[in-house]
Order: sequence, then C-alpha cells, then structure tokens
Amino acid sequence: MIVLGAGVMGASTAWHLARRGVRNLLLLDSAPTPGAGSTGRATGGFRAQYATTINVRLSLLARSKLESFADDTGMDPGYARQGYLWLARTDRELALLAAGRRVQHQAGLTEAVAVTPDDIRKLNPALSGEEILGGSFCPTDGYLLPLRILDGYLAGAQRLGAQVRWGVQVTGLDVGSDGRVVAVRTAGEHFACGAVVNALGPWAATVMDATGFLLPVTPLRRQVAATVPTTVLPPAMPMTIFAGDGFHFRVRDGRVLLLWPTPGVPGRPFEASVDAGWLSQVTSMARARVPCLRDVPIDSAACWAGLYEVSPDKHAILGAAPGVSNLYLINGSSGHGVMHAPALGQLLAEIVCDGRATTLDISPLAPGRFAEGKLNPVSELL
Ligand SMILES: Cc1cc2nc3c(=O)[nH]c(=O)nc-3n(C[C@H](O)[C@H](O)[C@H](O)COP(=O)(O)OP(=O)(O)OC[C@H]3O[C@@H](n4cnc5c(N)ncnc54)[C@H](O)[C@@H]3O)c2cc1C
Repeated sequence: MIVLGAGVMGASTAWHLARRGVRNLLLLDSAPTPGAGSTGRATGGFRAQYATTINVRLSLLARSKLESFADDTGMDPGYARQGYLWLARTDRELALLAAGRRVQHQAGLTEAVAVTPDDIRKLNPALSGEEILGGSFCPTDGYLLPLRILDGYLAGAQRLGAQVRWGVQVTGLDVGSDGRVVAVRTAGEHFACGAVVNALGPWAATVMDATGFLLPVTPLRRQVAATVPTTVLPPAMPMTIFAGDGFHFRVRDGRVLLLWPTPGVPGRPFEASVDAGWLSQVTSMARARVPCLRDVPIDSAACWAGLYEVSPDKHAILGAAPGVSNLYLINGSSGHGVMHAPALGQLLAEIVCDGRATTLDISPLAPGRFAEGKLNPVSELL
C-alpha cells in the first residue's frame, strides 16, 4: 500500500495501518524533510468545541489518543489543557455559542460552559473587555505540538516496517480498466500498488485526474503574525477567540501569535506568503482588543503563512473514493487536521482493515456526500 504525503495525516494513517499488521507500506512525499506542508505551519491548537456532533466526537477520540500518545509512540505530543475561550460581542454570537454547547454536551463534551464577562476577566485579564457580552470556555481544550505528533507517528510507523521516501513528487495515478488504481506515477518512476491513500493535504486534488472523482479540496491561505519575544501575556493563557470575526491570539515559544482569517489570494490559490496589509490590520485589531500589546512590536521575520485544506462543508473527507475502491481519502479537515489526525488515522485503518469504521459513525464524512447533496451544516463561528 502506498501513502501519498507524509504530513500528519499520512503519518497517522501509516502508523495505525502498521499497528493493524499492514506490511509493505510506502510513504511518498515531495518535500526533502518532514513538516514542509501544512503540518509544519500549524499553530498547535486543540479543541473539542465544535458545532457538529461528528467534529466533537473526532476531537474526543483524538483527545483520548493524545493522552496515550507517549505510551503508544514514545513521543510527548505536548497536549496542554489550557482551554479555549470564545468571546461573543452580540446576542446573535451568544446564541450561536449556546447552540454549539448543546451539540457539545449531547456528544459528551460536558465540561464546555457558558462564561460571563466576570468569568472572562478572570480567564484572560488582558482583554480590554469592551463590548464583550459573554462566551464559552472548555478547560480540556488547549494546545498540542504538531511536529511532535508528526514525528511520533512517522518514527513509530517506520519502526513497524513502513518506508518513507522524501523528494518524490507524485504526478498522478494509473487506473486500470476495472476502475482500481494500479500504480502511482512520479516524476521519475512508476510504483505498482495494491491500494493507495491520498494524504496530500492542500494538494490532495492535484493527483486525481485519472480517477474520475472530483475531490473537492481547495487550498486556503492562513497567516500568522508573531510579536517579538515578550512576557506581557502569560504562556498559560487560554486560546482566546472573538467569535464574530475569528480574530484569536495565544502565546507560543515566548511570542504572542495573532491570527485573523481572511479569503485567499484571488487567482493564486497556493500562494502562502504573508501580506503586509493583513499584518498591519491584524496588529491594529490586537492593539485595540488587548491593550498590553500596544507597545509590543511585530517581528516580521517570525511571521508565517500556510495553507488550509478546505472541503465545501469544512468537514473531513474520509474513506474510499466513489468508484475507485482501492483509493482511500483522508482529506479536507479544513484547518483542524493536526488535532483530528490521531482519530482520522485510526478510523481510516478500520475502513481499510475491517471494511468499515467501527469506533465512530463516520457517515457525515463520506466522500460521496457532496454528489448526494448531504453536506454537513457549516457553522458560522465554530
Ligand atoms: C497557519 C495554520 C495554522 C493551523 N493551525 C492548526 C491548529 O492550530 N490545529 C490544527 O489541528 N490544525 C491546524 N492547521 C491545519 C493543519 O495544519 C492541517 O489540517 C494538517 O496539517 C493537514 O495535514 P496533512 O497531512 O493533510 O497535510 P500536509 O501536512 O500538508 O501534508 C501533505 C504532504 O504532502 C506532500 N505533498 C504535496 N504534494 C505532493 C506531491 N505531488 N507528491 C508527493 N508529496 C506531496 C507535502 O510535502 C506534505 O508533506 C493549521 C494550518 C495552518 C496553515
């Protein structure tokens, strides 16, 4: 079996397959070293506060796997329960957060609670407090270390016999007359295969031409502004998110990271540079909302951007590609891929080895849902 892409999805899939006894696993990745794709750009947030049952359940499964990750792989994933604090500035945002909590509680995330402006001042005293009506807080959300998770799964898979080849650019798939993939094409050679996993992150759709399945995954630029090293905010602060416009901030490696989602660059979907105009806007937002950041300069050399791998309903796409029974997809996590990779890798291994996933009902993630018009509801906030 060949796994295309050795980011966190490919690595998790390979480790879970290897643990299930699948041998002759080969991972191909175009980069010279691990972490060159989205996984190395992730800021490392972990949350279970989502608006759909399937995303909450994926996070709860992933959380239990993070708790045993060090025993399983020998690597500490850096899972730190520092919480996610969502802030509402309108009644509508408050109502959407409350609706999200109802879904979360029903799915088993009982520790997500409503918070008042007083609670918020205690949870994050750095906020100016202006206009904040209330919010949501979940103490078991927090952070993880993306490259540790990648390295843990990659090294673990290799110990179990998987091979990884770096610097190999996959250019397409050869599909036989029976509709099954027979080989993976690369710039230099053909790799005959019994089955293939597409774990190519934002690039997942680029190798699908011969399969007849239109994989709806598109790249979307996400930019991160980093301050100079500073102690104005405590490293233990929760991830703090303004629900209305998605502006959020946290401390990582002694710097404050500022994020604010924007549309990608028109006509250049794979563009992943940091835009100077965006940098100045996000800095102004931060200074207005977090007064202690007013005198903390941005370090433009420490800022970065990367690509989300977005599906039309912002949920993962998991399982065999319609019409191509030996091509498995683990794509489209839409910016939640590091935190969900432990769960999705296990579930895909169940599909491959047992014919279906047994740990969770993953029908909301079926690759055929777009053609059937069965998209998941897209939350405006969560
Ligand atoms: C700025 C930013 C912040 C983020 N923050 C978070 C976060 O806080 N929490 C979270 O859970 N997620 C976060 N994400 C999302 C997360 O990074 C992704 O969901 C996740 O890394 C996807 O993993 P992947 O293995 O599918 O993709 P990737 O890590 O991109 O792996 C795909 C691999 O395929 C390889 N490849 C590409 N094309 C080819 C080809 N033709 N042939 C061979 N190899 C190829 C690449 O080199 C790469 O190694 C963030 C993303 C960004 C950009």
